[in-house]
This record gives sequence, C-alpha cells and structure tokens, in this order.
Amino acid sequence: MADDRTTEYRGPRESCGLFGAFGVPDAAKVIYAGLFALQHRGQEGAGITISDGEQIRTIKGMGLLNEVFSERSPSELHGSIGIGHVRYSTTGSSRPQNVQPIVFECFDGLWAMAHNGNLTNARQMRRQYQEAGAIFQTSTDTEVLMHLIADPLYRARTRRVERALGDLEGAFAFVLMTKDRIMGTRDRYGFRPLSIGRLRDGYVFASETSALEQVGATYERDVLPGELVMVDSKGIRSSTFCEPVSGPLGQCIFEHVYFARPDSMVFGQSVHEARLRLGRRLAQEHPIEADIVVPVPDSGMSAALGYSLESGIPVDYGLIRNHYVGRTFIMPEMAQRQGSVDLKIAIVPGVVRDKRLVVVDDSIVRGTTCRRRVAALRQAGAKEVHMRISCPPVKNPCYFGIDFPSREELIAAQHTISEIREFIGADSLAYLSHEGLLSAFDNPGDYCTGCFSGKYPAETAENHTKKALEKQGAVEV
Ligand code: AMP
Repeated sequence: MADDRTTEYRGPRESCGLFGAFGVPDAAKVIYAGLFALQHRGQEGAGITISDGEQIRTIKGMGLLNEVFSERSPSELHGSIGIGHVRYSTTGSSRPQNVQPIVFECFDGLWAMAHNGNLTNARQMRRQYQEAGAIFQTSTDTEVLMHLIADPLYRARTRRVERALGDLEGAFAFVLMTKDRIMGTRDRYGFRPLSIGRLRDGYVFASETSALEQVGATYERDVLPGELVMVDSKGIRSSTFCEPVSGPLGQCIFEHVYFARPDSMVFGQSVHEARLRLGRRLAQEHPIEADIVVPVPDSGMSAALGYSLESGIPVDYGLIRNHYVGRTFIMPEMAQRQGSVDLKIAIVPGVVRDKRLVVVDDSIVRGTTCRRRVAALRQAGAKEVHMRISCPPVKNPCYFGIDFPSREELIAAQHTISEIREFIGADSLAYLSHEGLLSAFDNPGDYCTGCFSGKYPAETAENHTKKALEKQGAVEV
C-alpha cells in the first residue's frame, strides 16, 4: 500500500506480503508461518487478524514478524479465519498507524483488510471523502477501500465489494475479512500476485506460492486479474468486478527479476527458472573471458547460475550474505542503506584473489551498493571485475508497487552505461536487452515493463491527478 504524504506523490511505493486463511484450525499459527515465507516482501511492520466466528482480534506492530510477536504469541489469537500482512518500508511512512491489517467497523460489523500495491486514484478519492467529512486514520491509500465499502452509496447495493473494487485504479492485491469470511482480489491488470491454496478442508491465499509450501498447502490457482474470490462456510465463490482489460495485462516483471523468492511460482511461472533463462540470455548477449562467475546473493544467484551454464565458466561463491542483516533497500533512509551494505555482504578473499570475475546481479538501482562491492572485490585482490546485470537499465519510476527511488536517483535515468561503468569502477558493464528480458517469459506481452521502457499498461497517478484537475476545469486541456 502506498503513502499519501510523500512530497512527490508517485503513488506506488511499496510491495507487501499477504496471507489469508479460512477453515484452518489455529489459523494464526498458519498465517504466522506463511508470513515468514513472505518476510522478504516487507520488514517494516507485520500483523495478523483472526476471527473465531464472533470476535475479531489483531496483533500488529512495527518491525520483523518475530519482533512483532516476541512478547505476544500468535496462539493468543483463537479462530480458524484470518488474514496477515508484512509491510514494506517507504520513505516518510514508518508510522505505527500504517501497519496492517487495518480493522474498521462498518454498519454490518468488523472488517479487516491488507493491501499490496498502489492505488493510482487514491489521492482524489481520499480528498473527495475528506471534503464530505470523512476522517482518515492512516496515511496509506489502502484506507480508501475501507471508505468505499462503508459508503452508504454502495452499502445498499448487492455486490457491494465488487462495486467498491471497481472504483479503484492502479495496482492491488487485497485480502479482506469479516468475522465469517475471507476474500482475495487482484486489480484488473494483475500487477501484483496472489495465489489460492488448499489446506486440508480449508483455503488459503498467499502473495507467493513459497508461502503455500511453507504451510503445507497445495497450490490451486492464481486469483485472476479483476476477480474477487470469496470463501465462507458455503465454500469458495468467484465473481468479477470489472470488464477484462482490452489490451495486455500488467503483471510486474520486476517480481521475477528481483522481488519474489526463487522458490515461488509467480504469474504461473517459476521465478528460479525465469532467472536462469535471464542469466543464460545475458551470457549469450554479453560474453566475456573470465575465470569464475560470482553471484551477488541472494537475488543474483539464479541468473548467475544461468550465465555459468551457458558460458561454461564455473560459478564460485566470492560473495557471501549475512542473513541476519535485512535487505538494504528495505531501510527507508539512504544513509541507513549505505551504512548497512558492508554488514550485509562479505568477500571470500581466497575465491576472488587474482581471478577475472564475472559478477552477476539482478539489477542496478542507484549504483551505490554495486560500486562498494566492486571496490571491495578489487581490494580483496580480484584481477578483473566484469559486471553483468540480468535486466535492462532501470530508468523510470514504478507507479504500481515497487519502491524505486525518484528518477533523479535512478543512476540509469541520469547516466549512460559507460558513465555507470566508470562510477561503479568495473572493467566492463553490460545489461540484458529488453528483448532478452522478454524472452524468459511464456506470455511476455502480459507484463508491465514500465521501469525499463517507460511504457505503463495503466494510467499513472500523475495522469489521474491531471485528469481530475482537467475535469474540474482547473488546468487548460
Ligand atoms: P545499487 O547498486 O545501490 O543500485 O543496488 C543494487 C542492488 O539493490 C541490487 O543487488 C538489487 O538486487 C537491489 N534492488 C533491487 N530492487 C531494488 C529496489 N527496488 N530498491 C532498492 N534496491 C533494489
């Protein structure tokens, strides 16, 4: 979910992890286990809401899942129905109020919701509600759906949730619950993933299939773009809240490149296999003579293996990750980000000394961590350092749920490849081509590649604001 208080409202600033369960004894423990498998999707906050059929209770807080549950146990939450959330960090939005699930009381009882993605028309809708007297508790755009669900205009109608979802624009996967049912839904373009699994007699939802595996559930299918799946005591039901999009879908290609876990199936395709293909293609496009392929852990591992298999250059682990330090990008401030890099990755000097290295990473965003690693490898005695990146240059902001910095801070938006090579201090630098990227996917047309191409399948937040102003006659058309 996105924050509405950033100085530059870009809408999409985060990707989070969702889990839901219905008809699952001790649902809180299962959701807790599922969220562990999704912790990489957000480390800023976590929460679980459970219903015993009558009462709804929540435990949530800032920090990692085990920090949130260090003093309180999931077993305090009794019931077989529930949802959970791990929250991704965004600049300026690290506030306890923003931690999810958000619980609210409607005329028909308590509801809870958790969101992954960014609504691009949240700002206007929020303003409209505020002008009509509504009060918002959080600075997230997630709360807009809560108002839509509670809105008397919708309340009287059947298919009230579908109506509310139909008004949302942008990227979303939601899990929602009342005391006796759960729901899972994805936006019409399918930007963010959400899967359905079976767990004995019950059902679960999870952002990634690795979380289904974690709890012993079997994968059934993905929630479809534009679909609302409801599970209650009568079983599982599906409905749609919009017409199917006329053009291609907007599944986030960066989930495959970087964000998702390699042991997940995302948008129907194995993340590890997609990354292997990216690495193989990278080796075809940008071969180099070298002694070893060094993966940047963790997100460069599969692509590095692909590069090695294709080129015949052996992989060796010259870089080792300390798993007790969080992903650097999760930390909101750039200072924090830079300060933690050395803690996170260690060099194995004996592996890299006097060697010509092909270092494979999934992406370069700001270039600062990459620069540090190249310098450290040289210090450890590497003879040559050739950087290979398994996606094209990230030149554009994401409006649909991945937290990239603004265009000013994206190194590839500001500099040529040779300038970037010079900045990071590598002997050579090469990125995968756009065609190479698409070649790894079974349905390449159904992906959003906006961060690379600048072409987005749906309206961005700026466009929505502009159109709203135009409608009011505030700017010249
Ligand atoms: P840098 O060299 O500072 O651009 O950092 C690049 C590293 O950040 C790569 O190893 C990527 O895996 C990782 N990364 C990928 N996506 C993001 C993101 N959205 N924000 C920050 N870092 C990311």
